Amino acid sequence: MATKVLCLVDGHAHLEELDDLPKSLQEAKEAGVCGILAVGMDMESNKKILQIAEANTRYIYPALGYHPWQIKEEEVEANLSFIRDHVEKGVALGEIGLDYRIKVKKDLQWEAFEKLLDIARESNKPVIIHSRYSHKRTFAMVKEKKIERAVFHWYSGSVDLLDEILSMDYFISATPALVYSPPHQEAIKRAPIEKILLETDTPVSYQGKEARPKDVHVSLGEVARLKKLDRSIVAEQTTANASQFFGIPFRS
Ligand SMILES: [Zn+2]
Repeated sequence: MATKVLCLVDGHAHLEELDDLPKSLQEAKEAGVCGILAVGMDMESNKKILQIAEANTRYIYPALGYHPWQIKEEEVEANLSFIRDHVEKGVALGEIGLDYRIKVKKDLQWEAFEKLLDIARESNKPVIIHSRYSHKRTFAMVKEKKIERAVFHWYSGSVDLLDEILSMDYFISATPALVYSPPHQEAIKRAPIEKILLETDTPVSYQGKEARPKDVHVSLGEVARLKKLDRSIVAEQTTANASQFFGIPFRS
């Protein structure tokens, strides 16, 4: 019997922030990571991501984004037009969303997010959603814009809202924070395995250690533990989920 080669997808990484990108990619490949979604924060990061993806075709897939943390009133238009002009180069839109724990005015966040969702809808791209203390509004806007494919990244909101998210056939993603975050654990326990993507949010620091794409193994192990499933089953299913969600045939 042939042993299956592992193929894991890191569905959310900020690769342009890494000083050790070649090493990190090499380690990821050795660890069985067969695809990485590079998400953008703003115009500068989107430009870098497009370059990184071009140099690593069929391994790194770019998503163009405008993160709420990066929103500045005078830069919104330029960021939106860059995304509009380059949207076909990306496989998704993200990281986009709302964050009520930051100083950026809510109405400015809503305006930018709404326009980004319009771009996603018009270009038929899936969206990678950031929401913090804003889950209800974020979900309501995604639903209202009739977005068909959305992943609520690192979902740690209420289980009631999670049920609504799942009823729309949307996904949530699992990060290494599953090691210690009860709300994130609850969400992953509740969501069916068919609706979960794995990710690292590289280079986020978890308990003092910066993540790299190879750490998608931590997310895998935690999902397997919480759902009492074999790691190989979780690996196979979440990679199939990522293929379906992003429209990419991930293969080892
Ligand atoms: Zn992120």
